[in-house]
This record gives sequence, C-alpha cells and structure tokens, in this order.
Amino acid sequence: MPDNDQALDYARRWLEIIQKPSLTPAEAEEIVAETIHNFAHHFNRGFLEYRKSVTVLDGYAATEWRGEGAIIEDVFGRQWIDCLGGYGLLDLGWSHPRVVEAVGAQLRRSPMPSQELLDPLRGVLARLLALITPGDIEYFFFAAGGTEAVEGAMKLAKMYTGGSGFIASLRAFHGKTLGSLSLMGKKDFRQPAMPLYPHVYWVPFGDADAVEKQLEIAAVVGLDIAAVIMEPIQGEAGAIVPPDDFWPRLRQLCDHYGVLLIADEVQTGLGRTGKMWGVDHWEVVPDIITMGKSLGGGVMPVSSFGAREEIWRVMMEPNPFIHTTTTGGNPLACAAAIAAIAVTLQENLPQMAAEKGSYFKAGLERLAIQFPNFYTNITGRGLLLAQHFHNPEIGYQVASGLFKRGVLVAGTLTNAKTIRIEPPIYISFEQIDMVLNHLEATLQEVHA
Ligand code: PLP
Repeated sequence: MPDNDQALDYARRWLEIIQKPSLTPAEAEEIVAETIHNFAHHFNRGFLEYRKSVTVLDGYAATEWRGEGAIIEDVFGRQWIDCLGGYGLLDLGWSHPRVVEAVGAQLRRSPMPSQELLDPLRGVLARLLALITPGDIEYFFFAAGGTEAVEGAMKLAKMYTGGSGFIASLRAFHGKTLGSLSLMGKKDFRQPAMPLYPHVYWVPFGDADAVEKQLEIAAVVGLDIAAVIMEPIQGEAGAIVPPDDFWPRLRQLCDHYGVLLIADEVQTGLGRTGKMWGVDHWEVVPDIITMGKSLGGGVMPVSSFGAREEIWRVMMEPNPFIHTTTTGGNPLACAAAIAAIAVTLQENLPQMAAEKGSYFKAGLERLAIQFPNFYTNITGRGLLLAQHFHNPEIGYQVASGLFKRGVLVAGTLTNAKTIRIEPPIYISFEQIDMVLNHLEATLQEVHA
C-alpha cells in the first residue's frame, strides 16, 4: 500500500542528515541500523552476507560517510586506506577538490541538458578526449556506466561492419547489461540470464594464436565477425597482463581479417596502469575505445565510447539520433570529466601510477616470497595489481585481516582467491608502506 505521508517524512529526515557536517555516535548508530534494515528489506540482503564491512568488524557494520584522498571514513569516523578504489573508479581519490569545485559550479548553474540547445561542455569533453586518446580517434558518445559504453561500442561495430559476431576472452568483464553480459567470460553471471546475444566466440586471454584460429574459422564457415573486444589488461579477472606481442598481433589480425578492434579501457583507462591508456603499453591504436569509471574523477558517473570519423559516420548519417540517451554526458558529468582530465595531465597521474605501482608490486612480491604457502603469484601493472592465493579461504582471511587493520581491498566478484589492489593514484608512499606492514602482520596471523 502506498504511504505518501510516511515517504515524505522519511525523505525529509534524510535530507536533514545529508546536510549534517558531522554525526553524533547516537546518530551514527541509527544510520547503521537503518542502512542494514533498508538493504535487507528493500535493496539486496545478499550483500549483507558478502560484505566484509558488515561481517568482520566487532560492533557496528562499516557504513560509509565521507572520503578524502586515499582514505574512506565511516559514520563513526573509523578510517580505511582504500586499496579497492571503487574497482578503478577512484584514480583521483575521494572528493578531489578540483573536480568537486567544477561540479559544484556547474551544479549551481545548470546540472542537466535541455536536449535541444547546444550544451558546450559535451563538445569540450569530446574534444579533450580526441586530444588524449590514441591515434585518430576523434568522435565520442557519453553515457553513465561502463556497461553502456560497451553496449554502444558493440552497436557501433555492428552498424559499421554489418557483421554480427564478437570475439571476446575467457574471464573477461565488460558489464552486466544484456549486450555486455553476452561478452562476459564467466558462466556464473551469464547462465542465469541466457539466452544472451548469441554471436560471441571466446578465446583464452593473451592467446593471439587462438584469436587467429577463431578468425580463420569464421572466414571459412562464413561468420561475419564485427569486432574483437578485449580489456588491455584484464581487471576483474585479477590484473592479468597479456604477453607483449598480444595487442600488436590483435591489431595485425583485425586489419588482416577486416574486423574492428575494441579496447575496453573502462578500468585501465586514464592512467591506472602507468600509461594514459592500457593499449599505450604496446603502442596499439584500437578502432573503438571505451572508458568510464575514473573519467568522472570519482565524483560523477560518466562513460564514453569513441572512434575515428570513418567509423563514426554511421552514428551521424543518415540518422544522427540513432544512438541517444537523455542524461548521458550531462553538464555535471562533463564538468567532472574535464576537471579529471586536467588533473590527470597536470599532475601526470599515469607516471605517478607507474612509480607507485612498481614500489607496491615489489613489496607484494617480497611478501609472496616470504609466504609461499599462501601465494601463487602477484600480477598487474601500475596500480592495477592483484595477489593470487592458493585458495579462496586464504584470500578471504587476508582481506578480512586487512579490513580489521584499516585497509580496504577487493576480491574478484564473489571469489577471494584473487585480491586486487587498486588504490587511488594519490595514495602516498607512506600509506603504501602502512598497507604492506598491515599485510605482513595479517599474513603472520593467518600463518599462526
Ligand atoms: N568494462 C570493464 C573492463 C570493467 O572493468 C567494467 C566494470 O568493472 C565494466 C566494463 C562495466 O562498468 P560499469 O560497472 O560501470 O557498468
């Protein structure tokens, strides 16, 4: 039964809470209890069982309140060094002042587009991306989530080539809406939603021979492949770096067979791996690029896909409205992205990620040698790193032990066998040392 009076009271109560600069312990307790109730009864109670924030702390579940730099703080003021980084969302850390300032100014003027007048920031962002993306990619479309960028890239590849097939990789992650989910390389997420988009063919990630074989077979039997889509470095699969010849060979193969090459840079883009784009490690220019996550500077959701003019023409002619969305690329999102790009360039975040990533990885490798019964290996590049354990139980204990010590890390979806390390690029060397010390103490505790 609708209860509008209760809804209005409840909304008013929370509008007051949102305005509060700080909370009393009693208010904090209430917020934790309410949040647990709301998740259990109105959102998804399964989350409560999976989250370390709920299950491993004595006392109150960690309920987020504010963040700054590499630190996330809960309603009681308890702090964690954020080595999860929103799975690549927080290259610039929490609440970067320049991004917040740009979004605030735009918010006070006009947050959303009219849909009819020209909105200048959309054009500015597209031009900036044309300037910083590889090769001659110069046209862009904006949406909110990474999955929408991938959906758009798939549609563009189909429209341009007239083909319908995609070659994707095992353990790939490109999003969870029906098109991008079709590319997913893990059955747990695909199977319950089947049948998905049917024309997808998988190869092991990093295996260029397998891609070649798949393209060869497609040519022989008459399958029309539109594109090969890969993450430059697999993120969700656990920071998996392909062999050095993989991306250059993908480029050659796609050229040879006349199919498009899509680089899904949603997680790797904008400096995370130590270069502006993941494909820059191999100096490869894809035909279509996707991005998201950190593009909004950790302040606004914004994603994009882009391509060179020859390909983009199908988005403009004969029907320029063939692909649209009401709120994607809104002025707030664009203001955030423009500020994020300015900060990324001015402070050379790719180089910062490369330097801090090497330092962090060396520390993790030392610990992996010290605890061979726990670790199989350490992978990744820049600040997209992963610790691989012999089994999920070890990974879970490590993640829980770190959480209790004030460090937030991430498993890969529902599996703790691999624990990713993806902190804001602004994490300091001192904070990296603190994380490594806490990790060593945790490993010793698990060992004991
Ligand atoms: N593509 C890649 C490579 C990703 O890592 C992700 C998310 O982790 C996505 C696409 C989907 O992005 P979103 O969760 O914003 O839909």
